[in-house]
Amino acid sequence: MPPLPSEVWKHFRKSADKSTASCLLCSATIQLHGGTSNLRNHVKFKHPSVDNNKASPDVAKQQTLHQVFAPRPSSSETINQALANFVVQAYVPMIYSADRTRNCE
Ligand SMILES: [Zn+2]
Repeated sequence: MPPLPSEVWKHFRKSADKSTASCLLCSATIQLHGGTSNLRNHVKFKHPSVDNNKASPDVAKQQTLHQVFAPRPSSSETINQALANFVVQAYVPMIYSADRTRNCE
């Protein structure tokens, strides 16, 4: 099975004698020397917005170490806030909360 053609060829058209390729984006003529490195370099430097080797947007959104390890509210603060929200939003009398606590002991 022959290898798949390089992705970079979607931006170029090979000349009839196969010694050059013309860029479909800017019509520049690129010398071919057996590989596609000249073509890839042309796209990389002349058309960076279509460069396939650039990091994809998903990779660019990867969190930084500072974001991953940023200080977060402690779990007790989170639990207290959730309890306060429950008491306020459900109109639960505080005596109810105290009784439920006693039942758990
Ligand atoms: Zn070009």
